[in-house]
Amino acid sequence: MSAQLIDGIALSRHIRTDIAARVQTLKARGVTPGLAVILVGDDPASAVYVRNKVKACNETGMHSLLETYPASMTEAQLLDRVQALNQDPSIHGILVQLPLPPHMDAQKVIETISPDKDVDGFHVASAGALMTGLPGFWPCTPYGCMKMLESINYDLRGKHAVVIGRSNIVGKPMAMMLLHKNATVTICHSATTDLKAMTLQADVVVAAVGKRNVLTADMVKPGAVVLDVGMNRNDEGKLCGDVDFAGVREVAGYITPVPGGVGPMTITMLMVNTLESAEKK
Ligand code: NAP
Repeated sequence: MSAQLIDGIALSRHIRTDIAARVQTLKARGVTPGLAVILVGDDPASAVYVRNKVKACNETGMHSLLETYPASMTEAQLLDRVQALNQDPSIHGILVQLPLPPHMDAQKVIETISPDKDVDGFHVASAGALMTGLPGFWPCTPYGCMKMLESINYDLRGKHAVVIGRSNIVGKPMAMMLLHKNATVTICHSATTDLKAMTLQADVVVAAVGKRNVLTADMVKPGAVVLDVGMNRNDEGKLCGDVDFAGVREVAGYITPVPGGVGPMTITMLMVNTLESAEKK
């Protein structure tokens, strides 16, 4: 039997409608949620991501400020800009698009963003808050995955979740969020010796690797929920995830497509974080 799709576009639309209504409420009180997006250099993929984020802001009635700088910008200049935005009352969220040019220390730049405007959730204070269960911004991609599980009323308590990938922006925060919901969590990575043995035990698998076909049908327990975070290109140059979608959908209970799955949810959760930052003010 074919798995049910968790449609990230439809779910995003639903959440963004709610965001737009909350933005109007805030505006009536004289506050327009504002997101500043900084792009340094001319990476074409980054330019697309940034455009989509600004578009989403505009569609939900938020204020967006896009600042683009040449790759020749110095780190000190970028830090100055971030500090100025930290002080700007019309800005509730600051996002510095990664990757940055090699002469810049991305972590140092992120740590310069005020934690109360860190809507990407990458600041060490945000990571610490997530780890300890304190309030703070959650990184948008794993947060979007949690919303997808919520949308199918999936109760994680006592379930075994396997996260493939341990990056600071996806894998580790994903594992922590699943843990907060009482799942038993296994984190796999490039040194995991028998990935299939792990994933076959999983009620939920989150693939966040960045390699095609990391998860194939023979690695999935029948009925499992499969969330595909990966963004790769197939031989025809088309966007695809980490999961062998055609094969795995015949075994899984639920599956997210690529495109149209986790990707739109990531931007939606950025809007949620920015809105909530403004609401806190
Ligand atoms: P990353 O920093 O490169 O991390 C990849 C992780 O995968 C690492 O932890 C790595 O292990 C692990 N890994 C590599 N090969 C593996 C293998 N054969 N088996 C098991 N684990 C393996 O990537 P990321 O930033 O987390 O992103 C992961 C993917 O998600 C990428 O395709 C990225 O484009 C995509 N992404 C999508 C969105 C979205 O909105 N949809 C957002 C962010 C990222 P080690 O730690 O041992 O090296």
